[in-house]
Amino acid sequence: MAGAKFKVVDPSRPVQKEPKVINWQLCVLCQVDDSSKLVVPSQNSCAEKFQGYAKLDALLQDFDSAGVLSSLPFSVDLSALNDGSGVYETLLKNSAVYHKKCQLQCTDKELKRAIKRKPKEKPPNNSPVKTRRLSNGFDRTKCIFCNKGVLKKQALINVTTESNSARIIKYATTLKDRDLMTKISGAHDLIALEACYHSACLTGFNNRIR
Ligand SMILES: [Zn+2]
Ligand SMILES: [Zn+2]
Repeated sequence: MAGAKFKVVDPSRPVQKEPKVINWQLCVLCQVDDSSKLVVPSQNSCAEKFQGYAKLDALLQDFDSAGVLSSLPFSVDLSALNDGSGVYETLLKNSAVYHKKCQLQCTDKELKRAIKRKPKEKPPNNSPVKTRRLSNGFDRTKCIFCNKGVLKKQALINVTTESNSARIIKYATTLKDRDLMTKISGAHDLIALEACYHSACLTGFNNRIR
């Protein structure tokens, strides 16, 4: 892997570019000081207290990759919620707080609804015609191996090297992986298809080859 997608960020250095400054005292989602009750995970005593951050992280990424982040009733700037160490870590570091009612806007159900409402014409991520023709039920926001989106602590990585692309295509056939073959049938170049995967899933796939 070229590793070009990841940048090592020195956490001791201040973040240079801040598109939107978050007031961490306020709800991270709406940033509105309306005196309604805030969820303060750091003051919660239960072991799962930071689950909310992980869920928010995953859901916001899903909204973003589905191109429906703007459908939320508040404007969320994901880059402002990520100091380079990831959304979850950033929320954790800043002891983020949020309104229950705002959190409830970020659920799988709302995501599905937003996708349904999304106008069909003009998809936000400009998909070339070639990609669309080749993709038989192929979803570029999902891992080509497990069909899941961004998982907690598992980012989706784009296929960026020819060797990975060629190997996946070759061994999907060799392994007679029907699901994978259907998805990439007719494809010669997974890089152009913008195929994504979880690194763990690629490792699993590679292990099946051996
Ligand atoms: Zn709020
Ligand atoms: Zn996967």
